[in-house]
Amino acid sequence: MTKDIFVTKPSLPPLSDFIPYLEKIWANGILTNGGPFHTELERRLCDYLGVPFISLFNNGTIALVTALQALAGDGEVITTPFSFVATAHAVLWNGQTPVFVDVEPDSLNLDPAKVEAAITPRTTAILPVHCYGNPARVQELAAIARRHGLKLIYDASHAFGVNDATGSVLNHGDLSTLSLHATKVFNTFEGGAIISHSAEMKDRIDKLKNFGHDGEVSVVATGINGKMSELNSAVGLAQLGHIDGYLARRAEIATLYRAGIDGIAGLDYLSPALGGTRPNHAYFPILVQPDYPISRDELFRKMKAQGVHPRRYFYPLITEFEMYRRLPSASAVNLPVARVMADRVLCLPIYPDLTDGDVARVLDLLRAG
Ligand SMILES: *Cc1c(COP(=O)(O)O)cnc(C)c1O
Repeated sequence: MTKDIFVTKPSLPPLSDFIPYLEKIWANGILTNGGPFHTELERRLCDYLGVPFISLFNNGTIALVTALQALAGDGEVITTPFSFVATAHAVLWNGQTPVFVDVEPDSLNLDPAKVEAAITPRTTAILPVHCYGNPARVQELAAIARRHGLKLIYDASHAFGVNDATGSVLNHGDLSTLSLHATKVFNTFEGGAIISHSAEMKDRIDKLKNFGHDGEVSVVATGINGKMSELNSAVGLAQLGHIDGYLARRAEIATLYRAGIDGIAGLDYLSPALGGTRPNHAYFPILVQPDYPISRDELFRKMKAQGVHPRRYFYPLITEFEMYRRLPSASAVNLPVARVMADRVLCLPIYPDLTDGDVARVLDLLRAG
């Protein structure tokens, strides 16, 4: 019996790296509310990522909800249907209206030309995703936001460690959010973060993630409990010692996949040029084109029957779900590219522990068709 290969396997540092943190937590009795490991992880992530201010969160969804709460106000938020459902849920949680705009076929990121066409007097913000860790069209989106006086908030959940020619991709926009969930490139088991650009904004976000408390006796906003615990912060500190190794192994796997897929008619991968100057290879999406011998879903089923479990991220589109499908912007005619791509895409297994032999097994199944 061969082993099952899943699309991802969470990265874990050696347990021996983690034990000293546990001993300190047990010794000092500080479990949460901005303890020493929380403070240290914020500082070390600013250094590692090259960003000015980070606020850690208990997960990426609450970070997104809080970022939109901090900036977007009431009204419409333009976003992509080609993402994990939390992107749009965060808009609904704030009582705002998501307006879905189509993606570009090469990158599967928001199409700036179509963003501009979707702006109305009620639009308050644009919420793009750096899908698969490939940077969105940050310059065009910044120009549109400036022209129309809109806030620009990136769901950068996939983009940990990604740089473009200007540095960290997390520095674009008014705010960027990260997910540090187990399935992401860098994880604290559960976790998230908001990257901001001034001490005042970080202070505002830090209040919002602590019930809106401003000191002991004053509550200034309808904040939530978004705090990251000391245990999760310690996991992050232990992971940071290994992140460069994780990223290097992901890059090797991506190279192996590309070489293999180059020889298979009907399968394409996204252009490596989309990944920026320092890609993170968070995902390895392929497109199963019409000239491949079988459909994407047949391939998906055949692979699963052989113990290889790719994922069809992002099928179904967010706009297919019950709470979104009746919105005017969720209509099929509004999202032709996203709809075609959602039926072609397949994300292959990629994670640091994946062996060359595992990659060969995946490629053999793709070749068999
Ligand atoms: C993972 C993810 C989220 C949610 O993050 P959690 O940490 O799981 O709450 C949001 N948006 C995108 C695009 C994601 O991939």
